[in-house]
Amino acid sequence: MIVQLGLAAAGALGVFVWDVAKRYGATSKGENPWTIEAFMNACRLAVHIEKAVWMVDGSINGMYRSAQVNEITEGASKTSLHMHGRAVDIKPGKGFTPESGARFLFAKAQAGELGAVRTIIWEPSWIHIDWHETGTTPTTETAKFIKAVGDGKYAAVV
Ligand SMILES: [Zn+2]
Repeated sequence: MIVQLGLAAAGALGVFVWDVAKRYGATSKGENPWTIEAFMNACRLAVHIEKAVWMVDGSINGMYRSAQVNEITEGASKTSLHMHGRAVDIKPGKGFTPESGARFLFAKAQAGELGAVRTIIWEPSWIHIDWHETGTTPTTETAKFIKAVGDGKYAAVV
């Protein structure tokens, strides 16, 4: 019984790890090798990422970026948390605009439903979310809500 449970758990864990590597490592920009640190973060945050995607009936535009991929990603910050497996870009689904989706997810983050969210960005056609290093553990720091205003600049949303 214990052995069977162990095998089932190992099997489920294998599928989960494979899903995380594939789903969050997907990019059209070529090779995107994971770092251990980024991969561990992605696994820890998966529950919140999937919840956020589900809440706006959305899809994932991009999650993990290796340093090489970040380098060739237009407009990417040199210190992007995408390189640490702590950020996701979500394309909102039917019924949501980037603005309404971002506002909705920010409200959920403030209610503590998405883990230790650091920033939510209302981007032109997607929503960016990144997390504090604590990831799943709530922090006393409040989430920031900002909006892309062009030229790589951001402004607080009121
Ligand atoms: Zn992003």
